Amino acid sequence: MIQYPNMLKVYNTLSRKKESFRPRKDKKVNLFVCGPTVYDFSHLGHARTYVVFDVITKYLREKGYDVFYLQNITDIDDKIINRAKEKNISPKKLASDFKREYLKDMKTLKIDAVSEYARATKYVKEIISQVERLLKKHYAYQIKDGIYYDISKFKRYGRLSKRTALQAEDAVSRIDEAKEKKNKGDFCLWKFSKPEEPKWKSPWGEGRPGWHIEDTAITEKHFGPRYDIHGGAKDLIFPHHEAEIAQMEAISGEKPLVKYWLHSGFLTVRGQKMAKSLGNFITIRDFLKENPARLLRLLIIKTYYRSPVDYNEKLLSQTKKEMERIDEFLDKLNNQKGTALLAIRDPKLIKNLISKTKKEFEKAMQDDFNTPQAVAAIFNLVTEGNYLIAQNKVRPKDARRILKLLKEIDKVFNFIFWKKPKEEFPKAVLGLAEQRERCRKEGDWQKADELRKKIKELGYWVQDAKEGSKIKKI
Ligand SMILES: [Zn+2]
Repeated sequence: MIQYPNMLKVYNTLSRKKESFRPRKDKKVNLFVCGPTVYDFSHLGHARTYVVFDVITKYLREKGYDVFYLQNITDIDDKIINRAKEKNISPKKLASDFKREYLKDMKTLKIDAVSEYARATKYVKEIISQVERLLKKHYAYQIKDGIYYDISKFKRYGRLSKRTALQAEDAVSRIDEAKEKKNKGDFCLWKFSKPEEPKWKSPWGEGRPGWHIEDTAITEKHFGPRYDIHGGAKDLIFPHHEAEIAQMEAISGEKPLVKYWLHSGFLTVRGQKMAKSLGNFITIRDFLKENPARLLRLLIIKTYYRSPVDYNEKLLSQTKKEMERIDEFLDKLNNQKGTALLAIRDPKLIKNLISKTKKEFEKAMQDDFNTPQAVAAIFNLVTEGNYLIAQNKVRPKDARRILKLLKEIDKVFNFIFWKKPKEEFPKAVLGLAEQRERCRKEGDWQKADELRKKIKELGYWVQDAKEGSKIKKI
C-alpha cells in the first residue's frame, strides 16, 4: 500500500509508536475518553485533558471522519461517598451538583465535541452483566467485601503499561485493598455496600460498581467489544486502562479492545503536581476569575498534547501577549481599507501566504496532532501578514481571505474568534471615555487629558488610535 506522506499519524501507547490512522470501519471513528469523577470543581488538569480531546475530535471531523465521542461521568465512587459524608449531603446530590458544574465549565471553555455523556449509575444493569460473564469465565471471584478480577488469569495484563502482573502491586492509584484478595493487584468489580452507602441490587447481594468496570460496560453498550480510540490522561494508563483491557478482552475473547490508545501529558503548577496541601491547586473557575476562557485554550493548545505542561506566571503572561498579537492582527484585518495599490503588482502574494499556512497547519496536525507547530503556522501568518499590511499590500479582499482561513482553523482550535464580553468595562469608565472622545473631536485636549486621568484612577487606560480610542484594563 502506498504511504501518503500526509496520512494522519497517531502515537499509540499500546505500541509506543506513531502509527498510520486507519479506523476499523471506513471513516467511522468510535472514541471514548475517561470523564471526571464528580465530587469537586474541575481543575486545570481536567481542562487540559478535555481541551486536548476536543481539539483532536474537531480536527478529525474537519478531515471528514464521522466521530462518535463518548465520555463517561463517574457519579458513584469512594471519593464521592466520602466527600458527601463530609458535607452531610447525599452522594447522589453531590454528584449531580458537580456534574452540573463540570458541564458548565466545559461550555465556558467551548469544549463541545462530546456526542454523549454517559453517567455510570445509568449503566448498572450492563455492569452487572459484565461481572456475571467474568465470573462465569473464572476471571473473577467473590470474597467477603466484593467481587474481584483475578489478574493472574489474564495473560496480557500489563501490556499497555509495560508492567507485569507481579509489579502491579506497586500501584497506588485506586487499587482496592482487601486481605482475602488472590493477587495484590486484583481490582474490585463489584463492592458490597456498607450501611448507609448507595446500593443497587445484584445476583450477589446489594452493592455498587467498581471504578474500572463502568467504562467497559458503557463502551460495550455503545460500541460493542472493540472500538477505535480510547483517550485519557497519562496517569490513567495503570491500573485503570489496563483493567479495562483485561475486563473486556476476557469477556469477549476478542482483541484488541481499542485500536489506538491516546494519552495526554501531565499538567503541573509552578513545577509541582497540583495539590490542595501545596496551595497550588487551581480550578477552572479560579483561572476564569482572572482570565478569559480562550486564553486557557491557547495555553493548552500551544503545547504538544503528550508533553508535560507547567503552568506558571511566565507561561501565562507569554500566552497573554500571544493572544494580544492575534487580536491586534484581527483588528487590522477587519479595518483594512483602501486600494493597496502595490498588491496589484503581485496578485499571488496573499494566495501563496494562505496556501502556505494551510499546508503548515495540516502537516503539523497530521503528525500526531502537533498543535504547537500548527500554532506556529498561525504566528507565521501573523508576522508575514503584518509585514504586508505595513507595506500596503493587503487589500480589503485579501484581508477577508485571511480571516476566512483563520475561521477555518478556529473550527478546530476555538481560541481565535471569541465574542468579546460586553460587560468588560464599568459604566463609569465607558461614560468618561465617551465624554473624552467628544472632547477630542472638538479639539479640547486639556479636558480630554483630564478625563484620561480620571479613567486611569478607575484602573483603566485609554489608547488613541485612528479608528477611535480603546479602553484597556491596567
Ligand atoms: Zn475511565
